[in-house]
Amino acid sequence: MSNFFIILAAGTTGVALAILLLHQRRARRRSAAEVDAWKLRLERDLKQAREVRNSLLDALGDAFLIVDTNANIRFANAAARALFGQRELIDRPVREAFIDPRLADAVIRCQATGEPVQSRVVFSQQTSPLGDLETRGFNAWIIDAAQLANLPSGTHSTRVIIRDVTAEHQLEQVRKDFVANASHELRTPLAIIQGYLENLIDDDVIKEPAMARRFLSVMRKHTERISRIVEDMLVISRLESGEVNTLKIEQFPFRSCIQDMIERLESVIRNQQAEVVIAMPDSGLVIHGDRFYWTQVLFNLVENALKQNPHNHVRVEIGCKAVGENVEIWVSDNGVGIPSADLPHIFRRFFRVEKHHSQQEIKGTGLGLSIVKRAIEAHGGTIGVTSVPGHETKFHIAVPHERR
Ligand code: ADP
Repeated sequence: MSNFFIILAAGTTGVALAILLLHQRRARRRSAAEVDAWKLRLERDLKQAREVRNSLLDALGDAFLIVDTNANIRFANAAARALFGQRELIDRPVREAFIDPRLADAVIRCQATGEPVQSRVVFSQQTSPLGDLETRGFNAWIIDAAQLANLPSGTHSTRVIIRDVTAEHQLEQVRKDFVANASHELRTPLAIIQGYLENLIDDDVIKEPAMARRFLSVMRKHTERISRIVEDMLVISRLESGEVNTLKIEQFPFRSCIQDMIERLESVIRNQQAEVVIAMPDSGLVIHGDRFYWTQVLFNLVENALKQNPHNHVRVEIGCKAVGENVEIWVSDNGVGIPSADLPHIFRRFFRVEKHHSQQEIKGTGLGLSIVKRAIEAHGGTIGVTSVPGHETKFHIAVPHERR
């Protein structure tokens, strides 16, 4: 019996021991499995958080990079990768990746001083931050570097934002050119007037009525030129102001606009024995727009055709038709035309074809086509030009029928 108990006790202890060991092993196995699961969860959460962070940074329009203390790139968002032509950026030094030292300098300066650095870099001609070929003439970038202090790791990384400001830079350039060109264009007639005034007053020309009259009429011609330049500039600036009320939209028959323009140019048409032809649907065409600017558009285009061809008995055609949702309008002539090299510049402010410009008797400010283009754009339309000198020069316009 006692033996039995001894055996039982021994057996029970053995079983208990076995159960305990099993439990311990299971517990260990379970906690190891739990740790593994927890690790997996953590990794998955981290991965997700990283993906969310990356997609947020990829959604930025600007290039965004993180650079470590050794000036190596540690992160680049989608815009940065696109900007640098999908070249490998990660773990590369900024000096190597940016190529142009002016971009890397901003980052290095920021890291050296600990202060934020913002600099504007303009690449002239055909370079971009990566040295890629560009056709835009120049492009401008703002590079903005600032330290990211107190990161959990204790490191001091630098965040770099590179923003394309080419459009703003171009606009600024256009404004500067406009002011420079306008001053130049105004200075010439003003200097002439001043010269004649000096003659009249200081040299006593005023006492010779015939001569004085001739001087005064020259001065009048130049004051007329100044007032036309100023008027044209005001029209352009009104159109460029982007104010909603710039245009007084109404519905009117396009034919009435053509008639207004012909009335204003009648004597020139007659004197030059020019032929003006109108091509439009029998039912006419109704335009939804600002009548004043449409008359101005037609006037400038037809006046150009006439004044560039004073002795050619030029034939000018003004046409319009409805095409789908658009109205197409064209003004063509069979005169001297525009050399193909000048065609891309023809709508630029103050641009005049060199060859034509030398014909001293042709009046003009070089602003007529700029006004035409801006007026059409203000109506939501586009204008283009084709020219085969001596055969046909055609300005073609497309505007939405109803202004949206
Ligand atoms: P401008 O006041 O000198 O006429 P525009 O801006 O209206 O200025 O025109 C710019 C230049 O384009 C003109 O000086 C002229 O050389 C050229 N041009 C415009 N229209 C014509 C045309 N129909 N035929 C030939 N040249 C033209």
